[in-house]
Amino acid sequence: CGIIARIGHGNAAETLLSGLENLEYRGYDSAGIAVQNGSGVKIHKCSGEVSDLKSSLESRPHGNMGIGHTRWSTHGPPTDENAHPHTDTAGDVAVVHNGVIDNYDELRSELQAKGHEFESETDTEVIPHLIDDYREETGDSETAVRRAVETLEGSYAIAAIVDGEEAVYAARKGSPLVLGLDEEEWFLASDVPAFLDYTDEVIYLEDGDLVVLEPDSYQITDLGGETVERSTDTVDWDP
Ligand code: GLU
Repeated sequence: CGIIARIGHGNAAETLLSGLENLEYRGYDSAGIAVQNGSGVKIHKCSGEVSDLKSSLESRPHGNMGIGHTRWSTHGPPTDENAHPHTDTAGDVAVVHNGVIDNYDELRSELQAKGHEFESETDTEVIPHLIDDYREETGDSETAVRRAVETLEGSYAIAAIVDGEEAVYAARKGSPLVLGLDEEEWFLASDVPAFLDYTDEVIYLEDGDLVVLEPDSYQITDLGGETVERSTDTVDWDP
């Protein structure tokens, strides 16, 4: 599957949708985006192709940041409910995920026992609930994402947004994730074609990297919270 995230000035939705179309070669059975615009996190998702998602949108949702996903299902059939992004019970944390969470069954039981309500059959849905749970505990989203990825077993590239926060949180282990650096916007994606129309300046992230993108800055740390320096590459292939 493919994931994409975008933050910057101006609108995110069109960029997310064209990015997803450029990732469809990775396989797809469902597609979705989440956009945040200061009045909540808005999710649009459905089974089918990115073109189905586009035609289901009456207009492009407004917001300068968001995440998107084309799904190749491993846990739960390709239905609208199982399409990503997934959220916590209140809909404040939205997550897209590429990979498989091996300990999702155990985590889901623990979270359900604490009152979290699940809406899908995916392994992925434990991630936003877990982040939400750690946010309640620590009061800080970056710490919550760090704790969540420490708890997850399996493979993942994830991108998350949180209601009211102008930031994209992302991490990877065993699934690809690349950062794209443009002048006015940052991208994260499973592969370079997702954003090559906009920029060819990239940083290939490594397992254990945790990224926080804000409109005018980005930061890469390891799981212990230490800053990681990664070199920037210029991609020299045509879209
Ligand atoms: N395991 C997740 C799911 O079934 C993600 C699959 C993917 O990488 O697209 O929804």
